Amino acid sequence: MSDWKVSPETAAIRTQAERTSQREHSVPLYLTSSYVFDSAEHARALFAEEVEGNVYSRYSNPNVDEFIRKLCLMEGAEAGVATASGMAAIFATFAALLSSGDHVVASRALFGSTHHLLTRVFSRWGIEHTYVDADASRADWEAAIRPETKILFVETPSNPGLALLDLEMLGGICRERGVILTVDNCFTTPYLQQPIRFGAEIVLHSATKFIDGQGRVLGGAILGSEARIAEIRSFARNTGPSLSAFNAWVLSKSLETLAVRMDRHAANALDFARALESSPDVERVLYPFLESHPQYELARRQMKAGGGIVAITVKGGLDRARRFIDSLELISHSPNLGDTRTIATHPSSTTHSKLTEEERQSVGIFPGLIRFSIGLEDVNDVIHDVTRALESSR
Ligand SMILES: *Cc1c(COP(=O)(O)O)cnc(C)c1O
Repeated sequence: MSDWKVSPETAAIRTQAERTSQREHSVPLYLTSSYVFDSAEHARALFAEEVEGNVYSRYSNPNVDEFIRKLCLMEGAEAGVATASGMAAIFATFAALLSSGDHVVASRALFGSTHHLLTRVFSRWGIEHTYVDADASRADWEAAIRPETKILFVETPSNPGLALLDLEMLGGICRERGVILTVDNCFTTPYLQQPIRFGAEIVLHSATKFIDGQGRVLGGAILGSEARIAEIRSFARNTGPSLSAFNAWVLSKSLETLAVRMDRHAANALDFARALESSPDVERVLYPFLESHPQYELARRQMKAGGGIVAITVKGGLDRARRFIDSLELISHSPNLGDTRTIATHPSSTTHSKLTEEERQSVGIFPGLIRFSIGLEDVNDVIHDVTRALESSR
């Protein structure tokens, strides 16, 4: 291939662990806890970090390394650490980089367990945080930053309100103020949005969602510059949130089909959102690539497509929303997202039930809001199921 640099989509398919003497085409599963040394001198050099190589699977494993190498190429990151889940990635990042007395600025609309970490765990360790509303101005974000602010943490689009944050603006603020912009990129995957291009220093993933894409395994990843990742890698190696070889093998295979799957998720989601927009039973449809989304222009600037998540607010509030969920026949009722199968969730009575009504309102979670993770089925069947369930729940 001489000096031709392949695209990230090709890299996700063609990057592989080194072929063994068996000449296999598909990468084998390296189920091994440890590795043998060539000699006493080799063992000494490995431990002294004078040479690179596998020692023990809490530190490295060929399947895990392959998965991370692919993700780095797709995100435009220098280095990364794979973790057992998305939450392990978020926890390890915060715990490795923050000390007592440090401060975190975060968008208010956060994944529930991330909110728990900030409010219940890190608060006990002398780490404070300030939440900023998704629709805040540049001045609001700047005002939230203190001298001791170390990390600015966001998810975009948010879950389940689908509010967008301007990554270029936040990247600029963080560069000026010396704050580490950290982005949970789980909803979009590196195929649809690459936060590092806009100034993010660290990108986090729950690989459990669209990266697996088939609802099978948990996994997570932390990606960034070699210097930042070195700090986190040392923390992770010594605390043990390692991704299993089996899950890495599954997830690395999944990355080979990520681009085609995300294209179909996004095309289906846009068709679904357009169809529901004209429904007399629906108050509002939110999808980043609908012209009616309040941040449509921003979505076009920082995302390649709108992703697989659509939120609708049904007329009739809480009772109607629950009747609607129970009337679905094809669509699964489950808290997960990013599966081949379309999933419906009622956030206000499930994933976000621990928030107060006021907190829910402030992040756009109304009692009638239903979140859909649009799958890879024929979208007409999905639209039919929703239309029928809306009628029978009137
Ligand atoms: C699911 C999710 C997580 C947590 O990931 P796990 O793999 O379940 O630990 C974090 N952030 C977002 C946005 C998620 O959707």
